[in-house]
Order: sequence, then C-alpha cells, then structure tokens
Amino acid sequence: MSPVFNFSAGPAVLPREVLIEVQKELMDWHGTGMSVMEMSHRGKEFMQIAAEAEEDLRSLMGIGKNYKVLFLQGGASTQFAMVPMNLVRGKKVIDFVDTGHWSKLAIKEARKFADVNIVASSEDRAYAYVPAQEAWKRSADAAYLHYTSNETIGGVEYPFTPDAGDTPLVCDVSSNFLSRPVEVNKFGLIYGGAQKNIGPAGLTVVIVREDLLGQVVPGTPTMFDYKIHADGDSMYNTPPTFAIYVAGLVFKWILKQGGLKAIEQRNIEKAALLYEVIDNSGDFYACPVDKPFRSRMNVPFRLTDERLDDEFIKEAKVRNLLQLKGHRSVGGMRASIYNAMPFEGVKALANFMQDFAKNHG
Ligand code: PMP
Repeated sequence: MSPVFNFSAGPAVLPREVLIEVQKELMDWHGTGMSVMEMSHRGKEFMQIAAEAEEDLRSLMGIGKNYKVLFLQGGASTQFAMVPMNLVRGKKVIDFVDTGHWSKLAIKEARKFADVNIVASSEDRAYAYVPAQEAWKRSADAAYLHYTSNETIGGVEYPFTPDAGDTPLVCDVSSNFLSRPVEVNKFGLIYGGAQKNIGPAGLTVVIVREDLLGQVVPGTPTMFDYKIHADGDSMYNTPPTFAIYVAGLVFKWILKQGGLKAIEQRNIEKAALLYEVIDNSGDFYACPVDKPFRSRMNVPFRLTDERLDDEFIKEAKVRNLLQLKGHRSVGGMRASIYNAMPFEGVKALANFMQDFAKNHG
C-alpha cells in the first residue's frame, strides 16, 4: 500500500513508529499476556505506564515540581468550564483575548462563572491576526488571563508568550501542544485535548500550578475539581488508560526526535514549504492570515476560483492526500501538519498544489 497522508485537524495523524509499537504490544504488553486496554488502572503495570508518561512529559516541557500534571477526560471543551470553576477564586472578572472560534467558545462558557473582559479581539479583520499586546486592556484584578495559542480553524498562532505579570496566565494549547518549547513557569495553567499532537481522543492534559488548587466555586461537582484529581494522581476514577499509554509512547517518540527544540525546527520547515507555495502561486491560492501569525500546525488556504474546490479535493485524493477540506464554518482548504506529519507528506502536498495550479491556472 502506498502511504496515505492524512491532513485532518483532529483526531489526526500519529507517528507511524508509535502505531507499529502499539500493534506489536496490543495483545501482550511486556509479557503480561494482556492488552493495556484490559489492565486495571490500579495494577502495577498500568501505574508504571502512567508514571512514565507523566515523567516523560515533565522532562519534555521542563515542568517544575510546583506544577501538577493531570490526565483527565472530557476534551478541551470541558476545560472551558473547569478552568473558571477552579480558578475564579472569588474574583469578579476573567480576562480573555479573542482570536477566533475556540476563544469564543471558551469565553461563552466562562461567562457562566464571572464577568468576562475581552482585553483585545481580532474580529475586526476576520480574525486574521493576534492583537498587539501593548494595546490589551487588562482588568486590574482579573482571576486569570486566558488565550488560545493556536486557533485550529482560523490558522492563527501566537508567535509570543503573553506577559501576564502576577495574574495567572491560562492557555488552551490543544492544537499546538508539544510543537515548540514552552516556558511553563510563565503559566498558571495549560490545557489541551490529546487528539492532535499527543494521542488518541479521550485524554485531556492539564498542567496547573499547585497554589491555584483547592478553591473551587461552591457546588462544583467532585469530578470538576482539579484538587481531587491532583490528590488522586489522576486516578480518582478510571482514567482513559489506553489513551494515556499511546500518549506516553508519543512522548518517548518526541524525546527520540531530539525534544521540543528539534520538533519546532521541523515544524518551521514544514509550514514554510506550504506557505511558500501559496504566496508564490500568483493569487491562485490565498492564505487569509497575516504573515507573523500564520500557524505552523493548521495551514488554511483558499483557491481564488472556488469553483475548483471539489476538483482540488478529488485530485488530491488520487495522490493519497486526504482530509484537506476546511472547517465547515469557513470553507476553503486546511492542511493540518502536526508533529507526526512527515516532511515527505508536506512535500507531496506542496508538489501537488504546484501541479494543480499549473494545470488549472
Ligand atoms: N480548543 C481548540 C484550540 C481546539 O482545536 C479544539 C478542538 N478542535 C477544542 C478546543 C475543543 O476540543 P475537544 O473537542 O477536545 O473538546
């Protein structure tokens, strides 16, 4: 079978080496005669898998001892509620930066727990950029400052880490998790769903500074309290065991690639290949995002002649280039090129885009 390149925005491509390892170990994990799926989460085998996954994630990101790493469920969408429930801590206002679809959903949910102050929004220009930090209108006493480091649909990525001063900085990193180095100690909390850069759907990773725990909104259900999960080492109830196992293998794979700096370098090169084709296409293709904020993970682009959209998808499929249709809310195309998308896949897409423009331009 010739290789298929899957540009899905998530669930998304996983490293081939990881899938092969999962296949090898599927029926018999390390001589136990059992699949990881069948193991008790409290048995010593799975406890070892989970502990190693946490250790490897800590070493990849340089997570300090004053942070808890939680392996939860419910997706990033559950975090839209769980973060305010845990971090409002009696304050009146939460500060948000609005850069598009996912910021907006996080804002909508947070409004149930406090007033929301939009410090800046790029809605005025169809979310094509990240507003300059100097112009953010922050509250004097916000519970925290929330931003979305990569807008998966819009293809807008922060090229900087905001400076929140003493206010806890909170980030939804769902679609650029582990794609570049992060200074964890600048954050109060980092969260993301696993199904893009980390592993299968079903696992949500939360990294939270310990001093922020234990002050939930009255009435918060037990399962929504970070402290319960922190005290229980993410085993208060049954965690998503198989997803944690696969994520652990992905962490080892990233370590083997040379860690986040090396991964970042590859991601820069991969993204540049596609943006160059778009920018040099003589307006055959267009990217709606201002250059400094173009995502390295999700590359949105349009065919100037939209009548060619269906033909583009059809011919791409013939070349085994799959899942290139843009999000239903914006149309056009989107190529998601997460960590596990090999350079050859991006190269194949770039070549196809050039050929297609030549044949139909
Ligand atoms: N935030 C971002 C940036 C996302 O891309 C997504 C999913 N595409 C979500 C939040 C929602 O994640 P989930 O489906 O895991 O709830």
